[in-house]
Amino acid sequence: MSDESYKYREIEPKWREYWISNRLHEARDEDPRPKYYCLDMFPYPSGSGLHVGHWRSYVLPDCWSRYKWLQGYKVLHPMGWDAFGSPAENDAIQKGIHPAVGTKRNVENFKRQLHEIGAMYDWSREINTTDPEYYKWTQWIFVKMFKVGLAYKTFMPVNWCPSCKTGIANEDVVNGRCERCGTEVTKKELNQWMLRITRYADRLLNGLEKLDWPEKVKTMQTNWIGRSEGAEVNFTAIAANGAEHPLNIFTTRPDTLFGATYMVMAPEHPLVSELTSNQQAAEVEAYIEKVKGERDVDRAAKAEKTGVFTGASALNPVNNEKIPIWIADYVLMAYGTGAIMAVPAHDERDYEFAKKFGLEIREVISSKEGIEKEAYIGEGTMVNSGRFTGMPSGQGRKAIVIWLEEKGVGRATVNYKLRDWVFSRQRYWGEPIPVVHCSINCGLVPVPEEDLPVRLPEVERYQPTGTGESPLAAVQEWVKTRCPNCGGPAERETDTMPQWAGSSWYFLRYASPHAAAALTTAEGKKWLPVDLYVGGVEHAILHLLYARFFTMFLHDAGVVDFDEPFQSLFNQGM
Ligand SMILES: [Zn+2]
Ligand SMILES: [Zn+2]
Repeated sequence: MSDESYKYREIEPKWREYWISNRLHEARDEDPRPKYYCLDMFPYPSGSGLHVGHWRSYVLPDCWSRYKWLQGYKVLHPMGWDAFGSPAENDAIQKGIHPAVGTKRNVENFKRQLHEIGAMYDWSREINTTDPEYYKWTQWIFVKMFKVGLAYKTFMPVNWCPSCKTGIANEDVVNGRCERCGTEVTKKELNQWMLRITRYADRLLNGLEKLDWPEKVKTMQTNWIGRSEGAEVNFTAIAANGAEHPLNIFTTRPDTLFGATYMVMAPEHPLVSELTSNQQAAEVEAYIEKVKGERDVDRAAKAEKTGVFTGASALNPVNNEKIPIWIADYVLMAYGTGAIMAVPAHDERDYEFAKKFGLEIREVISSKEGIEKEAYIGEGTMVNSGRFTGMPSGQGRKAIVIWLEEKGVGRATVNYKLRDWVFSRQRYWGEPIPVVHCSINCGLVPVPEEDLPVRLPEVERYQPTGTGESPLAAVQEWVKTRCPNCGGPAERETDTMPQWAGSSWYFLRYASPHAAAALTTAEGKKWLPVDLYVGGVEHAILHLLYARFFTMFLHDAGVVDFDEPFQSLFNQGM
């Protein structure tokens, strides 16, 4: 477009200045009109600046906000920065510049670009997750969680990026590689902070029903939570030397218990060495060694079934039948109990395994299809199942669980795929976890709320130490402190939070971004919750799950009076 047809160099700045000087896009608490809160997923301010993909995401809510504005709403349409994270830190490592410096420069660039594009944002409510006045509240939420047992520390084999030298969450592992740098991820045992998101599993699942979200996103969340009803069944493992050990399994199909013809344990199951016979020991050890370096994701996805017989057997409580115990990499220690009953006639993986190793395949659910060619996994009439023979499988499922409970050899249970959230990072550029280790009396003590924020100290080196400790561990004058409880010598926690932390509640802060005494004020609460949330489908699982978890927790803590943050959701790229 030439200057003759549209004098954008004159027209656009003129009206932008008019909007700004008249504060047209600022949301005012005292405005009497009904509110509308339209939110974009805030960006990470990268060094390359705003690209067309950003604006593709932002243009729709920008138009929608103007539309709601014209309809007579007072519209809250804010913007901010999800500014902790590895790129700024990697930059700092390479160039020795404080990550805050690069972040500030990038934010200015993003703002300039958004300004020139004519976007309608209320810049008076801008937030930045790396601002101590902001992360004070991220830390405050953590302290609240710690006090009710939702934050805890434990030794965990975690994914470890040998290049970033930090533990990373399952979610940040993409095809077995570090999401940030692409290096192949290994395992390392570290003392990690965890968030007990599993306590909210049922609410995270049930809450989806009332949301106006794309069905596809709801399905993705549902599958991630992975709730399955079933039974825990108490088998008895009999070692090669005759010693007996209780061995529990979880199954979603207790109606197929009579079809269990062998058991499989994860190779790293702690009982394996005690159960294994002398004859099988060499083969079992070699197999365990082979599997050791493999990752769960790859193991679960393997086409070729492998495994080794242990020489031990297990007693099936429904018919007192002795069945052989195998170990195989398709059973993962992290899911269920780390052991399964194998019902090859009615489970695809067990069927393949049984075919390969010549194990018995016994039909216990009759079907037209039969089990000659493949496992039959549907419903049918129970056969070869003792007193339950002749029952429809759905009914038999309940009847067997009742029988197990009466005999004291099992019970109805619910299982989830969702795991607790690894919340520790051994990095510099993140919110310090606000906890102190009292050396003498008190153990782990949260920093008192009035002493927040715990600010990031200046460091000489941004490199991770590589020993599993963050660069903060090297700043002794910061680490050494006093116990807030007993006044004795104490050390600060040196792990920082993951980048997910600040983005799990930022939508609440826009409502009262400058409040010093509370996360959100009474006036601010009137803007909440978000009416329309717009962002990329790549955030359909984790960001939304974490944001919902934080909101539910803050609801329970009395901070907000709703437990779902985003009433409506629109995803680009669906
Ligand atoms: Zn990495
Ligand atoms: Zn103490």
